[in-house]
Amino acid sequence: MLPERESIRSPRQMHRRRPILRFSPTAWAKLLYLRDRGPTEVSGFGLSAADDFLFVEDVRLIRQQATDMSVQFDDTAVAEFFDEQVDQDRRPEQFGRIWLHTHPGESAQPSGTDEGTFSRCFGRTDWSLMFILACGGQTYARLEFHAGPGGALQLPVAVDYRREFPAADHAAWEQEYLVNVQCVELRLPFPPAHAGTRSLPAEELTSAESGDFDFEYFEVTSFLKESGRSFHADNL
Ligand SMILES: [Zn+2]
Repeated sequence: MLPERESIRSPRQMHRRRPILRFSPTAWAKLLYLRDRGPTEVSGFGLSAADDFLFVEDVRLIRQQATDMSVQFDDTAVAEFFDEQVDQDRRPEQFGRIWLHTHPGESAQPSGTDEGTFSRCFGRTDWSLMFILACGGQTYARLEFHAGPGGALQLPVAVDYRREFPAADHAAWEQEYLVNVQCVELRLPFPPAHAGTRSLPAEELTSAESGDFDFEYFEVTSFLKESGRSFHADNL
């Protein structure tokens, strides 16, 4: 008797069916640049591809007041950003669902403040995603559904090289940082190891960024909370 179809899939095949938060190489490089530019957290939105909301093509900072432990957006700046995106014919699912921020420390685990912000600012959308990148390379990505019984899924993260991507533009990224990030307070006794360093030796950069980041498909953790619903990327 032949085995049931489900049982003949390899674990790798099963794994590949799960949603993965993916960044274009340019978006990922920009995020690293902004993370390491100063001693504070930085925060912004992920701009998704029109045909794939879990593929982040660009990262956009919003005017913000930042400390080494939190970030507060300027409400007017958020409204202006949304207007600008709508004017460019983007749908809200492409620019207003993925909240990105960095942690100057080693841990990418969301703080209580992060959870409060995510719930308050994104809890009324049909879905939203919180992504955190820590200084040491650790990542955290959680997709949440708010319709029906709701649910949450922690996603693996990867850089996806399969589509064309633009070159790095440090001058533009620097300008975006300077215009948007206002450092208001620092509480750490020492600046984080990477603060302001943009010329580390290559071997140090490699070890700093490799961490748990594989640059291929890899799994951090995955779970379904409470609802126990299965999830497929097609549902987005
Ligand atoms: Zn945080």
